[in-house]
Amino acid sequence: MTPAPAPTPRLVTPETLPGEPPDVAFRPQNLAEFVGQAALRANLVVFIDSARQRQQALDHVLLAGPPGLGKTTLAQIIARELGVSFRATSGPVIARAGDLAALLTNLQPHDVLFIDEIHRLNPQVEEILYPAMEDFQLDLMIGEGPSARSVRIDVPPFTLIGATTRSGLITRPLRERFGIPLRLTFYEPEELSRIVLRAASKLGVILEPTGADEIARRSRGTPRVAGRLLRRVRDFAMVDGAATIDAARADAALTRLEVDRLGFDAMDRRYLTLLAANYGGGPVGIETLAAALGEQRDVLDEVIEPYLLQQGLLQRTPRGRILTEGGYRHLGLAPRSRPLADTAELLGLGDGLEDDTNEATVPIS
Ligand code: ADP
Repeated sequence: MTPAPAPTPRLVTPETLPGEPPDVAFRPQNLAEFVGQAALRANLVVFIDSARQRQQALDHVLLAGPPGLGKTTLAQIIARELGVSFRATSGPVIARAGDLAALLTNLQPHDVLFIDEIHRLNPQVEEILYPAMEDFQLDLMIGEGPSARSVRIDVPPFTLIGATTRSGLITRPLRERFGIPLRLTFYEPEELSRIVLRAASKLGVILEPTGADEIARRSRGTPRVAGRLLRRVRDFAMVDGAATIDAARADAALTRLEVDRLGFDAMDRRYLTLLAANYGGGPVGIETLAAALGEQRDVLDEVIEPYLLQQGLLQRTPRGRILTEGGYRHLGLAPRSRPLADTAELLGLGDGLEDDTNEATVPIS
């Protein structure tokens, strides 16, 4: 079988790009420096304070939300604010129960263990994580066959911080063991503007507030995208010998990079145009769209569609994807008139709408 083609790298993807350096310099170091997510931050301050006063490990924390919103950053900040060490790993990396045991037994009391992509834990590993989270005990099987025996090992009280982009895929027993479940949401342009201004000063770039606003507006509510766009705008300014970056300079660079005024790129426009031109605005099944675009269904589901949905240009219905009036307007087209009854049927099925990951759609081709 030929391997599936790797998705085309996009400047506006919220994931880290292959070979992209981590933005270590941008990472806020404490809760006060962490911009946005105000309600979540206010609650965390209380929980961290309380754990410190009780001199106990903080309850386990689950951070859920799309990529690039600051889950790893927040986990590091929590450890720093607690004054404990931070160990990081990720769900798919912990292949066997022994790997988890090695991680846990090496922790100091109250340390933070961060597991990224926790929804991808091996079920056998997950099983032994439960008593570790609840009672700080590990039940391990030693040996095989008739001579196998189980041993119980104590682990130091620790805080597990799990991060996930797919909270719907976390099993219930695991979810229920997190005392502090938190959800991160997309950032407001004004918050992103503050984030890029701070990042610019770390990069030694003179960014005018108008330039920061321009980058923020096009960053899809995502700090990781904002940081990346800033670096690319900086490149253009440097090569042009510009001392400062204002709105016009940021706009010119981002337009050259085909990131439009709302942060949509060529891939988004291809998607929207296909839906409008070839399928009359839908409804059309995701498999059909994926085949027509030459992308994998997963890429559409998890990478391209979330921001189009959030911006109201697209709707998911039980019968397939539909371009909204906003979507037509964004393309500069007149909305296709749809008989009222048809629209009601498409949108009014309500109960058929499933979560983002496994939507049942009926391809119309
Ligand atoms: P995630 O783990 O959710 O994918 P990260 O924590 O790796 O996201 O953050 C991605 C980038 O965005 C990092 O460079 C980080 O420093 C920056 N970032 C995220 N959230 C914030 C924030 N609230 N303020 C400033 N920078 C942020």
